[in-house]
Amino acid sequence: MKIAKCSDCAAPLCYLNVFDHAPAFCPSTRYEREIKEVSREVIEGDLKEVARISSVVEAAGYCKKTRVEELVDFARRLGLRRLGIAFCVGLRREAGALVDVLEGNGFEVVSVCCKLGGIAKEEFGVEDGEKINPGTYEGACNPAAQAMALEKEGSELNVLLGLCVGHDTIFFATTRVPTTVLATKDRVTGHCPMQPLYLADSYYGRIKNPQE
Ligand code: SF4
Repeated sequence: MKIAKCSDCAAPLCYLNVFDHAPAFCPSTRYEREIKEVSREVIEGDLKEVARISSVVEAAGYCKKTRVEELVDFARRLGLRRLGIAFCVGLRREAGALVDVLEGNGFEVVSVCCKLGGIAKEEFGVEDGEKINPGTYEGACNPAAQAMALEKEGSELNVLLGLCVGHDTIFFATTRVPTTVLATKDRVTGHCPMQPLYLADSYYGRIKNPQE
């Protein structure tokens, strides 16, 4: 059986919920029963209001509001008071700017840096030669500590700002607070990870053909 591959779908039939000519790899038809089950959990569960507000925010700001503005709109429509930012130490200035924006819009804002409770990399098996600067102490980010601290501080919605790939994985796996992402870490592109994809057939061809 072919694996699900929506990226190869010529005309996303799921837009109209009509699947007469769905491709063999279509997960909509393959998982019809399971989709009904998980959808019911959202519609009848705690996430119903998040789902409703997400759609309202999407339509209200469609192609007009930036993601920061949509974040404000989302949190406001949900009636939240205290937001929590988990940021990368390398984006502390941007974190300060985000705090200013959110406070200016009436929210209380808790913020925690990625080096909070940093763990010596050796503690989880990193070799000295695998560090950024071998021969020195390197404390790894501690996203589990960030998630814990934001929960303890009463964050009602966490906002990730520039956590590293993998560190965000740990954050999502350990937080119990609803979480969204404002920006992802990409040191090379100024935190615009889409750039290499736009140029994948030209200047960034190496990302598709790593042997070249
Ligand atoms: S779910 Fe099915 S119809 Fe929708 S994009 Fe994927 S393959 Fe295409």
